[in-house]
Amino acid sequence: MESHLIYGITLALMLIIFLPYWIKFRRKQREDIERRKEAEMLGVIKPLAQFPMINQSLCIGCGACIRACPEGDVLGIVYGKAAIINGVRCIGHGLCEAACPVMALKVGLGDVTTRDDIPILDDDYQSNIPGVYVVGELGGISLIRNAISQGREAVERIPEERLGGVDPHFRDLVIVGAGPAGLSASLTAIERDLSYVLLDQQEAGGTILQYPRQKLVMTQKVDVPLYGRLRKSEYSKEELLEIWEDIFQRYGINFQSGHRINQITPVQGGFQVFSANGSFLGRNVILALGRRGSPRKLGVPGEDKEKVAYQLVDAQSYNEKHILVVGGGDSAVEAAIGLGKQMGNKVSVSYRKPRFFRIKKKNEERVGKLIKQGRISPIWSSQVVEIRDKTVLLNTDHGLEEIPNDYVFIFAGGIPPFGFMREMGIEFGGEARQVAAG
Ligand SMILES: Cc1cc2nc3c(=O)[nH]c(=O)nc-3n(C[C@H](O)[C@H](O)[C@H](O)COP(=O)(O)OP(=O)(O)OC[C@H]3O[C@@H](n4cnc5c(N)ncnc54)[C@H](O)[C@@H]3O)c2cc1C
Repeated sequence: MESHLIYGITLALMLIIFLPYWIKFRRKQREDIERRKEAEMLGVIKPLAQFPMINQSLCIGCGACIRACPEGDVLGIVYGKAAIINGVRCIGHGLCEAACPVMALKVGLGDVTTRDDIPILDDDYQSNIPGVYVVGELGGISLIRNAISQGREAVERIPEERLGGVDPHFRDLVIVGAGPAGLSASLTAIERDLSYVLLDQQEAGGTILQYPRQKLVMTQKVDVPLYGRLRKSEYSKEELLEIWEDIFQRYGINFQSGHRINQITPVQGGFQVFSANGSFLGRNVILALGRRGSPRKLGVPGEDKEKVAYQLVDAQSYNEKHILVVGGGDSAVEAAIGLGKQMGNKVSVSYRKPRFFRIKKKNEERVGKLIKQGRISPIWSSQVVEIRDKTVLLNTDHGLEEIPNDYVFIFAGGIPPFGFMREMGIEFGGEARQVAAG
């Protein structure tokens, strides 16, 4: 009788302790299922570039991957297994992969033969053209850490027989793009005692140069060749550029800016790399061009006005202005946040979807706060129709709307620099499939 009583009390206690957790767990599962359905409807289940690939037969649904993801809400539990509930949010930290106790998850590009925006590469980052390598974000994987690692690995793995040679006009490497990937490739070339030149259309720094002033850059520990480890998890844009500057001075990087490469031709002994300002001969070419290319335009009347820009470097220069930010990704939202914090600005955001889906959790929280405070006004499901001198005309759910305007910042993504790569015969995913199908 006594033992029954103890048993009953223990059971009741356990229920009291664990029931709230169970209810919370079930609620989260229901939410994830709903979000997955919503994501399917909106087409955000598909990745922009890399994404977690889940082996459903191995997954035990423990949720370790979800807890490890710093972006939040990329993954959820759907019917007891991990599932992607917002694929476009994945930027490839890879922490979910490391956290999975049963190795059921891998962050990658999926079946690249179906991706006509991804060049086909072998395990050494070599394209279908022997001697032409693709590293960094251009290959589909973003983040500074990945760009640095790939730049290093590609140069480390170039076989000896592709290097050296008698013709002094040829360098071992012509590296195009002076972002983290190109810089890391250059440092590895120095480490391997190879001849190289690093070229860029602009100053060195890559996409980091385009970040807004004082932007906090998230990094994970990464070893920069020769220089050593970047240890902090957050740097400001300025701190990171100082490190770049220090590296350039310390190692005397052989860098030439002002070369927008527009053609690469195979020649006897290697390749000739052309810009409008000159040409360079290399036994191998490393393409580290990133994916930003040139900004995508809206193609609306008035877009050529001086008040229209495609990047925001310094939000502090704008006060007491009517500003329209166009777009719904992290760049757009970060610009809106920067501008919304300045005194007297009235910032509107025109986005073609009914809410922000693709942005980092931190940005979602920060923009949410400013929207509540009335410092940013989103105009959901809207498109710019015309940019006028003092106003902008928008097509919205309620018909045409004309809002006062001093400046427009457009963040509609970039047109990746694939043109001359395709011209020289570098194969991309979709094309390989078409060839195979044909
Ligand atoms: C707003 C924003 C915020 C980000 N925040 C983070 C973050 O917090 N943490 C993080 O890890 N990553 C972040 N990223 C991503 C990160 O910046 C990129 O993944 C990284 O810079 C890629 O490095 P990369 O060397 O491959 O290319 P890039 O840095 O893009 O460099 C490419 C270089 O190639 C040059 N180039 C391109 N075409 C040509 C040509 N035809 N001829 C000559 N030169 C050419 C360009 O001028 C550029 O200098 C962010 C990106 C953006 C846009």
